[in-house]
Amino acid sequence: VRLRVFLPPHIPRVEVPEFEVEVLAFDVDTRPFLDPLRGQCRADVAVKALAQRRGVPTVFVLDCDGYYPGFNFVFGLAVPELMTAVVFTARLRGARFEERLAKEITHEAGHLYGLGHCDDPRCVMYFSNSIYDTDRKTPYFCQRCRRQLLRARPYF
Ligand SMILES: [Zn+2]
Ligand SMILES: [Zn+2]
Repeated sequence: VRLRVFLPPHIPRVEVPEFEVEVLAFDVDTRPFLDPLRGQCRADVAVKALAQRRGVPTVFVLDCDGYYPGFNFVFGLAVPELMTAVVFTARLRGARFEERLAKEITHEAGHLYGLGHCDDPRCVMYFSNSIYDTDRKTPYFCQRCRRQLLRARPYF
């Protein structure tokens, strides 16, 4: 299952074991998405601006904090219809940064392939309310989610 990831060049390359990943070095200018009062980027505005609309489902890693109206923050956002997702780095920082980033990229990619949230706290599709949820889950899909992924078609 294919995935394209745009990763800022100063961020170490991450392993995303569930997908056949093409990583491209690209530093998105996040200023157009930044809400200066909150100091956070608006996730849905970023996805719309970056949308590829064709080709391979794509995740952009944005080196900032993100939010969505109604949420204090989000780790990422996927819009399957646009085949585009964003993942924000700010709340993933720490010793486990690369592992966390890989999990959140995989999670949003799962949404791009039509997967919803999963009840299994070890499954990468488990919804992360906090970084503890992200640390507890694995970078892998549970069997049920993987079956669904292999059946799924992205919105080509
Ligand atoms: Zn999700
Ligand atoms: Zn699952």
